[in-house]
Amino acid sequence: MAELANCLQCGKVFVKQLKDICRNCYKEEEVAFKKVYEFLKQQKNREATLYEVVEATGVEETLITKFIKEKRLRTSMFPKLGFPCERCGTLIVSGKLCMNCSVELKNDLQQLESIEKIAERNKEVKTNHGIYYTLDKHRR
Ligand SMILES: [Zn+2]
Ligand SMILES: [Zn+2]
Repeated sequence: MAELANCLQCGKVFVKQLKDICRNCYKEEEVAFKKVYEFLKQQKNREATLYEVVEATGVEETLITKFIKEKRLRTSMFPKLGFPCERCGTLIVSGKLCMNCSVELKNDLQQLESIEKIAERNKEVKTNHGIYYTLDKHRR
């Protein structure tokens, strides 16, 4: 059965099949993908970063990020490719946050009930680089 949906890219109503975007946007995306892939395929560009690819191909960062998340661009082939963690900017290849930030965020959530503790902990993290403190918490 045909299901109607709004295209995630342009918002137009279309018949949803396998994709979340309409035919037009899909076509545009394919063109963009080819451009990016052609660029990266060249030996000298194998180690290009996300930003270098954006600059060289004119394809949007968000789109390239999407290709990485979909694993169409494999970071095993293009080792420098990745997108920044939403919190600290470290390059990652999946999810939204790097390992460190997800751990920290989880810890922060656990301690939300005591704001003072967090402030104290932050002080301590600065002095001990957080290593001992983080380990202690898990040991409990
Ligand atoms: Zn569209
Ligand atoms: Zn991070």
